[in-house]
Amino acid sequence: DPRLQAIKAAIRVVPHFPKPGIMFNDITTMLLRPKVFKDAVEIFVDRYRDMSISAVAGVEARGFIFGPPIALALGAKFIPLRKPKKLPGEVISESYVLEYGTDSLEMHVGAAQPGERVIIIDDLVATGGTLCAAINLLERVGADVVECACLIGLPKFKVLSPNDYCYFIFNFIHS
Ligand code: 5GP
Repeated sequence: DPRLQAIKAAIRVVPHFPKPGIMFNDITTMLLRPKVFKDAVEIFVDRYRDMSISAVAGVEARGFIFGPPIALALGAKFIPLRKPKKLPGEVISESYVLEYGTDSLEMHVGAAQPGERVIIIDDLVATGGTLCAAINLLERVGADVVECACLIGLPKFKVLSPNDYCYFIFNFIHS
């Protein structure tokens, strides 16, 4: 797929950000190229169009960039999964382990319904810890997590989550 090459080329890799030793994949350079951004969204939409998806959950913050256009194209609702203390209503919360310390994601109670077919979107999967927390949030309310999709899967960490949910649609971009 020639679109994948253009997507890879549009992502900027920034060494030593946000701290020494980290190679940061900066997707904002891709957003400046509307044709490439559109192609990326379309690749996801093409995969999920006929899978009866009624909700797209996006992980703060960059899942909020890719999730909504995918949701609108699928005719699905968008559910923001946010960092702690950002959502004003009643929430459920799920913690996950970071390299140093822990973080958590929150979801509004009532955002997803039992049995609802959901996909989870983020820009990048590294260890899969963030996506696993997202999966747990949705499964706790009985939603059916059909797949997770990310723009980038880091080859260094190409491990499927224990439950094999993650579909690394672009897992070869940086290989
Ligand atoms: P994981 O939980 O899979 O180890 O890390 C994935 C999370 O960290 C995602 O939410 C992703 O946005 C963020 N992340 C980690 N490294 C990078 C990076 O190099 N570039 C971008 N854009 N996000 C990153």
